[in-house]
Amino acid sequence: MRLIIIGPQGSGKGTHAKKLAAKIGVPHISTGDILRETARQGTEEGRVAGKIMAAGELLPDEFMACLLKKRLGQADARRGFVLDGFPRTILQAEALEGIAKIDKVIYLNVPDGECVRRLAGRKTCGGCGAIYGNENPERIKGKCDACGSELRVREDDTEEAIRKRLAAYHGQTEPVLGFYRRKGLMAEIRVERVRQPEDVFREICGAIGI
Ligand code: AMP
Repeated sequence: MRLIIIGPQGSGKGTHAKKLAAKIGVPHISTGDILRETARQGTEEGRVAGKIMAAGELLPDEFMACLLKKRLGQADARRGFVLDGFPRTILQAEALEGIAKIDKVIYLNVPDGECVRRLAGRKTCGGCGAIYGNENPERIKGKCDACGSELRVREDDTEEAIRKRLAAYHGQTEPVLGFYRRKGLMAEIRVERVRQPEDVFREICGAIGI
């Protein structure tokens, strides 16, 4: 199954994408994770990418399309994938048409206020990528429950960068929703604050028939 998960920053898409990929046995492909890894390698390309990301801005479409084509060309993606963080613009969605055929797009519709609230408490594991927040805190402060590695606050989870990222989402990524709606591929999941993550995950699974 070739799936895309779209939602604003803080919608829980990374967490659900990971769970979904594990459940159906395909790789979770997060362009943000790939870029953060590139930035850590300290090359000139990584340095430029890291700067753009820290500012909460989007990287150029051609660069992203190229990066994604390379990743989807790897053997593990042949059986399918859960794509998280791509496409973020109409140009990227059009580029993806020439790379892979998508079966379903899951849209996590979460109000901005709720996203900001969640991002303010977000910590990510530097080892396995597990995500913690105010509602699912780690058991030992600053250490991952799953692998024991240090937890980090993302460089772009500052108030200024969060504001910019949400603006980029509304301006550039929301039009992508219409693109997939017109193709009849869209499954919209409404996530108000009161909903439990397990309940949201159940609805996601139901939407794709697993
Ligand atoms: P994420 O982990 O998905 O929130 O992505 C973190 C950052 O990486 C974004 O704020 C962008 O700066 C960059 N990024 C990730 N995916 C894309 C993409 N498809 N297009 C442009 N920039 C991206």
